[in-house]
Amino acid sequence: MSAQRSVNPRAELANVPIYDPALDPAALDLSDNTNRWGAPPVASSIASDAAGSLTRYPSAYSTELVAAIAEQLDADRSMIVTGCGSDDVLDAAIRAYGAQGGVLAHIEPTFAMIPAFARANGLQPRAVGLTTAYDTNAAAMIAGASVVYLCSPNNPTGTIIPRETIEQIVREAEGLVILDEAYVDFTGESLVDLVRSSSRLLVTRTFSKAFGLAGLRVGYGVGSPSIIEAVKRARGPYKVSAAAERVAVAALRHDRAWVADRARDATQMRELLFNGLRDLGLEPIPSRANFVLVPVHDANRVSDAMRACGVIVRAFSALTAVSPALAATGGDALRITVGPVSEMDRVLTILREAMIACA
Ligand SMILES: *Cc1c(COP(=O)(O)O)cnc(C)c1O
Repeated sequence: MSAQRSVNPRAELANVPIYDPALDPAALDLSDNTNRWGAPPVASSIASDAAGSLTRYPSAYSTELVAAIAEQLDADRSMIVTGCGSDDVLDAAIRAYGAQGGVLAHIEPTFAMIPAFARANGLQPRAVGLTTAYDTNAAAMIAGASVVYLCSPNNPTGTIIPRETIEQIVREAEGLVILDEAYVDFTGESLVDLVRSSSRLLVTRTFSKAFGLAGLRVGYGVGSPSIIEAVKRARGPYKVSAAAERVAVAALRHDRAWVADRARDATQMRELLFNGLRDLGLEPIPSRANFVLVPVHDANRVSDAMRACGVIVRAFSALTAVSPALAATGGDALRITVGPVSEMDRVLTILREAMIACA
């Protein structure tokens, strides 16, 4: 073969990590906030006979699923866009509204994919630290940003951004405002109704967390028809597979009571986990989601020790000090997904042993 000059990707991609979560099917994995109670019953039964549709393309923009979501939200179908996970909707929305070389402002700490999506789409991420009241500075979020990203309840803190702050940002923003409601099912307090009065708000949701269907890869966005149209253009057709669409529609139509019951289980077990962590002398951050962030010294070493005992949690370091305890650990913390009582007992036992081993 003759020597050929190599082809170079866009320079910004050097700062976009290739995501690499450690998957170990044998372990108790409490690292990714998925539903520890499993997948909804009707959805699981439909998944097994979805094979009949495999030779055909699905609808380009998930007609059936859009109809089911619109019905549930009492919204017009023109206000819904689906995606291959809400990640896909977030990525497409950032591409649709992000000015090349412009700024995407996001709260900090938040969902780690957001700065990556910003860079991959030619934007500069700008982190605006959450305050110790788990609030954000609206003016700093808005100034010069072509996209503003908010997440409530926020990953990884589990905290809620005050409604007045979100309303102010939506009112005064110059660009698109994204409100990520991946964990809204655990609070029951959605701001999705704001999309009816705003032409710059996109609310995103997912089937990956409370709905127990992370492996399906289905998410959606709700916004004004003009925003939805732009996101569809940036997203492209056929992102939700036929099998995934069928299962998601079945879950929405038949399994909502199951999902609500498991979300109630999760909020109960969250309090058990929270109190158990306090009993260990730790100061977890009060959460409204299905996980708890707990400041821990040497979080990486502690999580490695836990992993060696078959329990996986997510370690963070250098997080913005949103609480005095998080300041005291230098921003080191563990994020633990809530699950059934036996899993909570186990993670608390292993955490206590790991902290002693690492002390
Ligand atoms: C898990 C998560 C998502 C991604 O959800 P998918 O629908 O699985 O892509 C989006 N936002 C936040 C904040 C999350 O924690």
